[in-house]
Amino acid sequence: MLEVSGLTVRFGGITALDHVGFTVRPGDMVGLIGPNGAGKTTLFNCLTRRYQADEGTVRWDGADLLAVAPHAIVAMGIARTFQNLGLFPELSVRDNVLVGAHRHAKAGFLSAALRLPSVRREEAALRAEADALLDRLDLAAVADHPAAGLPFGTLKRIELARALAARPRLLLLDEPCNGLSHGEVDEFAALLRALREERELTVIVVEHHMGFVMGICDRVVCLEFGSKIADGTPAEVQNDQAVRDAYLGAA
Ligand code: ATP
Repeated sequence: MLEVSGLTVRFGGITALDHVGFTVRPGDMVGLIGPNGAGKTTLFNCLTRRYQADEGTVRWDGADLLAVAPHAIVAMGIARTFQNLGLFPELSVRDNVLVGAHRHAKAGFLSAALRLPSVRREEAALRAEADALLDRLDLAAVADHPAAGLPFGTLKRIELARALAARPRLLLLDEPCNGLSHGEVDEFAALLRALREERELTVIVVEHHMGFVMGICDRVVCLEFGSKIADGTPAEVQNDQAVRDAYLGAA
């Protein structure tokens, strides 16, 4: 269970998040919507400890998430994707996914400890797990290909695979449909639905593609100028006058 309460983030004179509160129950798929600059990515950056909150609390499975060191977020079962993709272009697809897997491996894993037999066994296990993910996400054929030069839809799937390699319980997706064709959006929605079941994921997805959000999410939270203006089922939020005025009218 994720419980966000009174979360406030300021950048100089800008209040990017203004006392935002909501809860996400295990297994929920929650859409986070709102106009550009509403604070959606800032919220993800707070949950992953990239940004410091000025006020408020975030509890994840009862723990105080805002007290967790940024590098320990993955160990708390939280992984994310990025709006502008965070892949290493020169690394192979498999190695990009392994970067995600190593984040949950033992500290010092990438050091000289690689010479130890026990660590080599773990490396083999991680590689097998990465290969299984590549298979599942239809990436096996490009596993040895550098990420650079692959089609955008493929890069999006690689980023998802990398996040999943960290074995998250809470997956934060930042605009996964941005740049995808209609057909790719439908495929991605089907994939995400299936992965959510298979991997018992709780998901928060920031997305401007309303067909996707309303079709796949159980709940939708809408931000405007850093404040929460709606929180309900897709139908409730779609029919909410404040949301229509602030966002959907223009979406
Ligand atoms: P979009 O849909 O365009 O991605 P968003 O809802 O994700 O927008 P944020 O990126 O969270 O919005 O930005 C919220 C506000 O905080 C904006 O006014 C933005 O300029 C500001 N902001 C975000 N990050 C920083 C930062 N590191 N320094 C200063 N201001 C920032």
